[in-house]
Amino acid sequence: MHILDIFDANPTTFSFEFFPPKTDKASADLFENIARLQELQPSFVSVTYGAGGSTRERTHDLIVRIQQQTNLTAVSHLTCVCHSEPELTGILERYASSGIENILALRGDPPRTLENYDPKADAFQFAEQLVRFVRSRPASDTRGFGVGVAGFPEGHPGTPNRREEMDNLKRKVDAGADYICTQLFFCNDDFYDFRERCDLAGIRVPILAGIMPITSRETMMRMFELALGARVPAKLLRAIDRCADNEAVSKVGVHWATEQCRDLLDNQVRGLHFYTLNRSDATRRIYENLGAKDSLALVARRPA
Ligand code: FAD
Repeated sequence: MHILDIFDANPTTFSFEFFPPKTDKASADLFENIARLQELQPSFVSVTYGAGGSTRERTHDLIVRIQQQTNLTAVSHLTCVCHSEPELTGILERYASSGIENILALRGDPPRTLENYDPKADAFQFAEQLVRFVRSRPASDTRGFGVGVAGFPEGHPGTPNRREEMDNLKRKVDAGADYICTQLFFCNDDFYDFRERCDLAGIRVPILAGIMPITSRETMMRMFELALGARVPAKLLRAIDRCADNEAVSKVGVHWATEQCRDLLDNQVRGLHFYTLNRSDATRRIYENLGAKDSLALVARRPA
């Protein structure tokens, strides 16, 4: 389904993000988890895009498999880094012929493993240019591909000047983005402030909030390593410090994410986007904590 139809049909969207698995076993496990999460009736699911050739192929394969073997809408992430225009054309043609209707257009980060990476060799330097390019390509839908872009409630490290950053975001949206999906965050005030600044900048597209429950000390440390930019509040850090083991950490992380979701739903968030880390249990527990068996029930319980 095209993302515009998804927004038309859902006052609040619920979406799940996966990354392409590296092995056949991980791939089978992921498909089991996707089947479990399908019961929650997400509005769409998305698959991330890496920098290397083999991981990129895995994204394409996974996206097409989800589209063809489940009743879910699959959104493919696509990046500028390490891509020429003919390569991007080929990818979009393949998606169009496989019925993939939606792309999350990103710049991507310089690949750590490619020592001689030269960004100037890429066809596009910024996501704004990729958005324009994707919009110019034919898709299976006559409206063209549905296009999402990234937003950063705590700011993007590449542009310390927040005003300039909002100008860049506005240009990216004006290039043809249908919605913004944010980086994960742990303080809702950062999201509300970002949403207000988008409004002040004249950005009117839906903004989906990125949620990632911390489920172990290892995932938290990995998040710090990848410099995802999300500030973990002292209150949450202290609660995690108190935990005897990862089972306890997961309970704390799921509780925190549940309270974030409850508050966001009370404040008319347009969508919740869950970074699942390819697992189903944490997201399911958040739904249970919110008292809903699926996404439809979550919206039905929203105050009028
Ligand atoms: P841009 O919008 O191009 O912005 C990058 C930086 O350049 C910003 O600081 C911006 O302010 C600045 N900028 C933009 N335009 C201009 C201009 N004209 N002149 C000067 N500066 C400018 N990465 C992956 O590799 N694969 C993924 O699958 C992936 N999925 C993601 C999903 C989400 C929801 C999010 C939030 C991020 C994801 N990322 C992914 C990470 C993302 O690629 C990086 O954070 C990247 O550094 C920024 O990408 P962007 O699309 O926001 O880039």
